[in-house]
Amino acid sequence: MSTSSTKDFLPVRAGMLLRVAADDPQGLLVDFEKRVGNFRRVLSKMDETLTVLEKAAARPNEYFDQPELKKQLTDALQHAETAWSIFGVESNALYKTGYYLFLNILQNYALAPGLRRKVEAAFKMYEKRSRPRISARGILRSLKQAQFYKDLAGRLLEHTALAEQCISGAKEHTEDGPTATKMKVGRFTLINSGGFSDKTMQMVAGAIKEAEHLLKASRLNQVCYGAVSVTKTLISKTLAFYVPQTDALFVKADEEEDPKLVHTILHELGHRYEKKFLGENKTRQVQELFNLVHKHERENKRRNEGKQPKPGDKLSHKGRTFTVRDVESNLKSGFVVHLILDSRPGAIATIPLESYLILQGEAGRDLTDPNFKGFVTDYALKKGSSENFAEMFAYYCQDNLPVSQSVAFEELVFGESK
Ligand SMILES: [Zn+2]
Repeated sequence: MSTSSTKDFLPVRAGMLLRVAADDPQGLLVDFEKRVGNFRRVLSKMDETLTVLEKAAARPNEYFDQPELKKQLTDALQHAETAWSIFGVESNALYKTGYYLFLNILQNYALAPGLRRKVEAAFKMYEKRSRPRISARGILRSLKQAQFYKDLAGRLLEHTALAEQCISGAKEHTEDGPTATKMKVGRFTLINSGGFSDKTMQMVAGAIKEAEHLLKASRLNQVCYGAVSVTKTLISKTLAFYVPQTDALFVKADEEEDPKLVHTILHELGHRYEKKFLGENKTRQVQELFNLVHKHERENKRRNEGKQPKPGDKLSHKGRTFTVRDVESNLKSGFVVHLILDSRPGAIATIPLESYLILQGEAGRDLTDPNFKGFVTDYALKKGSSENFAEMFAYYCQDNLPVSQSVAFEELVFGESK
């Protein structure tokens, strides 16, 4: 399930509050410029610092021997260190502000293709905060720190100018005329933020309509409102994502229709449901629901243990056949099966028992099995309570949630079972 919530992205230190408004690029730009200003402070002396460090790295003895040069070097080392620590202190807030700023610009303005691509590229930088690991020591280390800082500061100034350009020449999305980038789809407003063709937009609109239809049938259509921004790949591997801080929904579009799109939209709206309609006071129940399913999952695993293959059993997969060598109990992942590839007996594959049973069509997540218990997907299992809730929400809307879980889900969501 290639989805992601931004809940666990960019950990914000306690007490750090950021103003994030869904439709306020100007406000975000003011914040962003303030953050960039903190970086500017040390930028003025950076060229000089780099020159000294470059020379000193090439001829260190000269710098250690002559008092005048030694003082220059000490200052430069100090300056590089200060710059590096400023990044450490400021970057969390800076990256977060940059992330929302550029997302907001994409969401709110109809941009010319060239400009839009620059905004998409800028956004990618803020998606993930990273400070390079510098293994060098001494002068070389300070030199690398100063170089990193200078490059970053340069990009920040470019991004500030870029954001200013977008906002000052702002053209809001409009529903009319040949350059329309906005359309109503049910209770949603679909926004073409990626310069997509009509055909692509119609495809996404179809998926949104289908999702809304399913939500309505499940009495969960409170989540149907607001803008859905259709964008190019912004966050790697995700088909859609929801930004809880701004209650904004993004869908990635390709020319090719992805069969999982409706499911993914429902999943993301499940995050909206948890955040806006269940609210904070149900966080504990969402966790309890996860714990309950986790208990089911363990029961399911125990059921599978009776289905271990014997040495010599055959498995066919993608036109190749394998022979079971043995089954091993592995503390970390439970039971694993070692397989020998028949056409190349030296090649051994090791897979979890669950995967083996799925490939044999014997078990795994067969949600149509009335006795099925456990998580609806591996994703729900691995990613914790909120992701499990979103997955269950999506399965519930598609009428695919196992009976053992529907009751618990309805109790949480509707306060009763139907
Ligand atoms: Zn998710």
